[in-house]
Amino acid sequence: MPCSPPSANGLFSGPIMNETLTILEKPIFGTLAVIGTGLIGSSLARAARASKAVSHIIMSDASARVCERVRTLGIADSVYEDAAEAVREADFIILCVPVGACGTVMEAIAPFLRPGAVLSDTGSVKGAVMAQIGPFLPQQVTFVPGHPVAGTEYSGPDAGFSTLFHNRWCILTPDNQPDETVSQVQAFWEACGAKVEIMSASHHDLVLAITSHVPHLIAYNIVGTAADLETVTQSEVVKFSAGGFRDFTRIAASDPVMWRDIFLNNKGAVLEMLGRFNEDLAALARAIRWDDGNALLELFTRTRAIRRGVVEEGQ
Ligand code: NAP
Repeated sequence: MPCSPPSANGLFSGPIMNETLTILEKPIFGTLAVIGTGLIGSSLARAARASKAVSHIIMSDASARVCERVRTLGIADSVYEDAAEAVREADFIILCVPVGACGTVMEAIAPFLRPGAVLSDTGSVKGAVMAQIGPFLPQQVTFVPGHPVAGTEYSGPDAGFSTLFHNRWCILTPDNQPDETVSQVQAFWEACGAKVEIMSASHHDLVLAITSHVPHLIAYNIVGTAADLETVTQSEVVKFSAGGFRDFTRIAASDPVMWRDIFLNNKGAVLEMLGRFNEDLAALARAIRWDDGNALLELFTRTRAIRRGVVEEGQ
């Protein structure tokens, strides 16, 4: 599969996708400001431009070096180091920064948001992000939190591509915001290729804890355990990684800051799901110890069916 050159942050980008997006005749928003130019922010800018979902795109990143890279990539009409400067003229603002940085960024941009502007985010945790943003939200700004359930293990502006959200779910947790504005945000994500589902923030955090957060924790843990084994050398871990371990290493290569923030900000749901997971793992260990092949077969047959369902859904 073809890859683009190394990204500004030293990581290699993801695959170049050729699929096309539907092009809108009329933009949904005028000016979009994307705060954070990483995998998600840069993919959003590319998708919004390709689909003509907005008429003008402003991007912001605190690093001058990354801003320069974004200019070179040509994925925005203007680029600012100062997030406050970036939001002044924006009708629609999307925060694409790590979950733990949302409150600080919001505090910085809040005084500069236009009355009537619509604010959203892409954070992988919703309850904590809403709690961080709430205290700084101006009265005349509507906040429609969002989470695109799409991604890769790569980071930075080079990693993004316009079809990242194609046929992926984007979950909105609007919490009593006006229907008209929620529909506008929904239409924006649909123009970017996503399918939209609306739910409460607490339900989102529980669902994502088991479908995304705990699986990542398991991957980080198993790769860490293998690296620490004294009887197996590092080179053997790399050499024989095909047997399942390889898939874990891909997940465990995900951005450390992003995942630290996810676990610290979805503590309750992650610990609850981890408790369930530990109980089930103990039952599996027991089945192995007592040669209970039927218990193993029963579980493995059920999980195979779940895999088929996931593939059929195209996720
Ligand atoms: P990324 O590629 O690592 O990009 C993160 C962006 O946030 C960069 O522009 C970075 O700036 C900026 N940033 C980092 N720390 C910051 C701080 N303290 N203050 C202000 N800006 C800061 O991450 P991403 O994958 O695009 O993720 C962005 C958001 O989307 C996160 O909330 C994540 O939970 C969510 N999300 C990620 C995925 C995924 O699979 N990656 C999927 C769905 C949702 P620099 O470039 O200067 O470092």
